[in-house]
Amino acid sequence: MNKRRLLIVDDNESIHEDFNKILTDNLPNKNIEQIEDILFGVKIKVKPSLYEYVIDHAFQGEEAIVMVENSEKEDFAYSVIYMDVRMPPGIDGVQTIEKIWEKYPHIEMVICSAYSDYSWDKILEKFGPTDKLLFIKKPFNTIVIKQLTLSLVTKWDIAKKNREYMDYLEKQVDERTQELKQLLKHMTELKEKAEQSEMQKSVFLANMSHEIRTPMNAILGFSELLENEDLSEELKVKFLHYINSNGMSLLNLINDIICNAKIESGVLDVFFENFSLNQMLEELKEIFLINLLASNKEHLQLKLMTGTTGNNFCIDSDRERLKQVISNLFTNALKFTESGSIEFGYTILDENWIEFYVKDTGIGIPEDDADFIFDRYAQVSSSKIINKNGTGLGLTISKNLVELLGGKIWVRSKLTEGSTFYFTHPVYHK
Ligand code: ADP
Repeated sequence: MNKRRLLIVDDNESIHEDFNKILTDNLPNKNIEQIEDILFGVKIKVKPSLYEYVIDHAFQGEEAIVMVENSEKEDFAYSVIYMDVRMPPGIDGVQTIEKIWEKYPHIEMVICSAYSDYSWDKILEKFGPTDKLLFIKKPFNTIVIKQLTLSLVTKWDIAKKNREYMDYLEKQVDERTQELKQLLKHMTELKEKAEQSEMQKSVFLANMSHEIRTPMNAILGFSELLENEDLSEELKVKFLHYINSNGMSLLNLINDIICNAKIESGVLDVFFENFSLNQMLEELKEIFLINLLASNKEHLQLKLMTGTTGNNFCIDSDRERLKQVISNLFTNALKFTESGSIEFGYTILDENWIEFYVKDTGIGIPEDDADFIFDRYAQVSSSKIINKNGTGLGLTISKNLVELLGGKIWVRSKLTEGSTFYFTHPVYHK
């Protein structure tokens, strides 16, 4: 049976006994039932009540306030309180109700009095319009008290369920709102990403057409000039050199585009072989020296720092792809460095890993762009940085190749001081 808690507040002991009798006599009492069964040999049917009342007793207003406080803490709150008005020497019933309602406005209150210091009107004026307050006169009518208690407890129950349901609904609404907010945030991020990607694509297309047109125009222009028969041998060699170097730029660009397309469609294969690392890096250094001359930057110092000496240290890698990554990083270093040095090489991290690096003393990269530059078509667009052309493909390709070879790439850089690109590489291929 459902247990509900009642509180009787009255300074008169006999009132408490009355309530006990009225509200507990219809409860099925097993012992009495059994005795009656034995005595009369008949089954006495006891009508079940909807509720079992747990009745507590207070004799003063202050005591009642403490009991209400405790009942709420015990999570077995009072549904109904029957309250006397005059309870000397303590505070009266109306003041007690006022105090209790300050914190617990859901408790049903019944003021019980033979006569009152307050008129009904005065009390209503004090509490304002409320459906939580009733007024009954002593002496009590048993049936009235029984029915009144049952109605008020039922009413309290319904109100409690309503509150719980409202809390549940509010929680649900809160959760849904949170979910929607999350979704909205996610959608906004996706939209921003799509917009950024779209913008990068447009910049890429513009750059690409510039990157193709420039060497093409040079090749066409100088070829036309070569047709001039009066041209000196010296000029002819010069023009042929221009045509050749612009042809190489075009070829590099086409290689980059094809390589990127292969990576994006997942068809780029890597072929591992075992080779001497120092030997491969020495070869690269030779090519880089030529690049320095070709770009009129022979004043830059070029350093190769190897983590081992001699040619015995061998690693498993795709020789050409590894060269491609280091060359890409070197080409950028060369492009963005006007004075100072470019250093490249590797250090041995442990028996399984090495770390390559390409370090320059060039213009540097803003901190915010350190991750972004590895994105497809990404280029630093700070006002402090002079646009050096390019397509924004080099680092994307490098990142993908490094990952295909089993490592990770990152950059440390300081604006105006230079950049160092690092990437890890396993010594052995599994
Ligand atoms: P590209 O050089 O063709 O534009 P990359 O993917 O190689 O494309 O480089 C992306 C961008 O990263 C460059 O445009 C440049 O803004 C920045 N960057 C790359 N390397 C360096 C470097 N060593 N120093 C300064 N900025 C660099």
